[in-house]
Amino acid sequence: MVCESSVLRLFLKVLIASCMIACMGLGWSAPASADVLRIGRPLCHAVSPTVAEDDGGLPTFACSGEPEGYQRGTLWLHAMLPPEADERDDLSLIVHSSRFDRLIVMFSYADGAVERQEVRSGDFGSHWRAGGQLAFRAPHRDRPLVGVTMRFDKVASARLLRMRLVGRGEEGTQTTGLATSIGAALVLLLAGAIYNASLAFAVRKQFSAWQAAWAACMFVWGACWSQLHLFFFPAMAGAISAQICTGLSCLAISLATLSAVTALEERCVSRWLRRTALWLTSSVFALGIPLSLMRSGPIDMLGSILGILILANLVAVAFCIGQAWRRGSSEARSFTGAWAVPMIVLASTNFIDTDAMFWGGGSQILVLFAAAWQTLWLSVAASRSHARLRVERDMARQAEAQAQELARRDSLTGLPNRRGFIERVGTVLDTSHGRGEAVALLLIDVDWFKTINDFYGHEAGDVVLAAIARCIAPYESPSCTVARLGGEEFAVTVAGLEDFELMRFADTLRQKISGFEHGNAIDNRKVTVSIGIAKSSTRADFRTLYRLADEALYEAKRGGRNQVAIRLLDAAEPGDDDLDPVALGN
Ligand code: GH3
Ligand code: MG
Ligand code: MG
Repeated sequence: MVCESSVLRLFLKVLIASCMIACMGLGWSAPASADVLRIGRPLCHAVSPTVAEDDGGLPTFACSGEPEGYQRGTLWLHAMLPPEADERDDLSLIVHSSRFDRLIVMFSYADGAVERQEVRSGDFGSHWRAGGQLAFRAPHRDRPLVGVTMRFDKVASARLLRMRLVGRGEEGTQTTGLATSIGAALVLLLAGAIYNASLAFAVRKQFSAWQAAWAACMFVWGACWSQLHLFFFPAMAGAISAQICTGLSCLAISLATLSAVTALEERCVSRWLRRTALWLTSSVFALGIPLSLMRSGPIDMLGSILGILILANLVAVAFCIGQAWRRGSSEARSFTGAWAVPMIVLASTNFIDTDAMFWGGGSQILVLFAAAWQTLWLSVAASRSHARLRVERDMARQAEAQAQELARRDSLTGLPNRRGFIERVGTVLDTSHGRGEAVALLLIDVDWFKTINDFYGHEAGDVVLAAIARCIAPYESPSCTVARLGGEEFAVTVAGLEDFELMRFADTLRQKISGFEHGNAIDNRKVTVSIGIAKSSTRADFRTLYRLADEALYEAKRGGRNQVAIRLLDAAEPGDDDLDPVALGN
């Protein structure tokens, strides 16, 4: 129940926030009323249906109603400055750049003088500022400033225009503050993009790839919106950048949706919900791209439709996350954490006018920081789940290594079993051949072991086998391998010993085993072994050595047991043995 109520709360948050993102994602701020176009002063307007001549005079302004029919012509906006304004001769007009061909700003002074400043698409000169702004400084004169007139040629939408009049000192502070905060957000986004891309490569996760693409897209959007790209490409100033930004914001919404939908486990989200989210995001993309190319026409109307589609898309994503959460998806929890905080922040901008806040960056700077937050959160979440997976993988590998080791050990004696022995012998044979050393295989078989079992029981037999294992185990070294091959048969491979030393070594083993006190378990009875040795000075394979050692062992048994017999394999070709039997008895 607690879980479900928090999911509902999440839905509410997402729903409210989605409205904001729908408005802000494309830079469509709340429609400005025509007579106060967010300049802080009453604003009058006039329209020329075709682009006005440069030397024509000022038109007649209307101070009520909305301007219309300006998209192919000229839109004039005029603000009177009240005489009591203290800062009149120290003002900057900040215009949040939009899609227009040309903007001329005219500052009018009390003596009738007019100072003109101009920017046009592709050439913002020194007027561009970080945060998608254009700054026009009123030149200082003896006479006071009485009005500001703006002339927009072929502006796409008057509703998207935002202007502010600020003091010059304030403009400097705002420009620095905005540039710093944009820089910080862009660095975070770039780091997030690189990190997620490397994660996508390292763990081959589709979600990380989408996340990286989304962060990269938001990075480019941020650089473009903030106009930082004009450092490198000044000719992109104006409409082209605004169009790219619209296209990028649609792409970013699609990538964010793909990243969320692919991250959620398939079993946790119903297919129709997933498909709805994907269908809506395709529609956003399909409408957003042509809209970004439009310079005139029903931009406002299509923008509203796009806003509704984005809203529906985000609601669908929110439902996907909510459903996945209810069905126990851990990814959904990460997504909620990543989305909730930015969404609450963004939702609050619905009730607070952010246009003049954040050094003039408005809601877009919040979008940028929200994106950086989301990238960081999801990067941390991805790292944590990756670390968890790595720990689980290491534990699984460790368990597998233990199982492999156990499968190669004899449980009664703790010595390597036949399988483990054969694997090790290969290495011993290769190494000794590489060094040009002789190698020998010793087969050790307990004499009359069946009678021990028969007289003293199977358990006593096991005790004897374990004791024999303890006698030979200390010889284990890089040049000597010991094992229990099965039953009452043990094996030793030894490298670097020639015939005489080899026989002495085998006899030492035999004596050590036969000298072992087994105590009451078998009534202090002596247990002897017979040893068959196969020795090769050239390269030999295990099967050949084993066959020879078995023959030597048979010989030792036949010779009366409790003795050592040896066979030498000196032929160059394995298997082409030149046998030379030698026996050493007790
Ligand atoms: P020989 O001197 O000819 O080698 O006679 P032997 O009695 O040692 O040989 P045989 O092959 O007849 O008997 C081996 C016995 O070893 C038979 C089997 O019951 C016993 N054995 C095999 N594995 C184990 C084991 O793990 N524990 C015990 N206690 N006995 C085992
Ligand atoms: Mg045997
Ligand atoms: Mg035996």
